[in-house]
Amino acid sequence: MTEHEHRWTTDSTHTTSEGVVIYQRCRCGEHRVALAAPTLQARAAAPAGRGR
Ligand SMILES: [Zn+2]
Repeated sequence: MTEHEHRWTTDSTHTTSEGVVIYQRCRCGEHRVALAAPTLQARAAAPAGRGR
């Protein structure tokens, strides 16, 4: 068995509430699942209604 540096290619990605789940696989057959943190998109938090 020759060890090699896996060359991961993204198979598919799924956006979940936990972040982005990335399915990757190598040509050797190895595969892995990575989880990328969700990009912090300023959730347009509606400013608390400031009653005049
Ligand atoms: Zn590999």
